[in-house]
Amino acid sequence: MSNDGYKKEWFACEKHLEFILDDIVDYQAIAPSLDLWDNHRDSLRFPEACCEKCGSSPDYILTYFEDRTDKNANSNHHSR
Ligand SMILES: [Zn+2]
Repeated sequence: MSNDGYKKEWFACEKHLEFILDDIVDYQAIAPSLDLWDNHRDSLRFPEACCEKCGSSPDYILTYFEDRTDKNANSNHHSR
């Protein structure tokens, strides 16, 4: 495995962007970066992308990179 970082994408339509963003921040405790969906570029990279909530074609793409260089297996569970 040569993964230096962990990368995750989410897709959202205009209507569900806030919803999905809240969800990610809430449950994953991370803040992904937000980009407009670019049909020319992104539909090639993610041909099956659709809104996480309603399944329609996305208007936004949310990407999160986690730098794992300085992490060991001692992961903390989120506690509220
Ligand atoms: Zn949607």
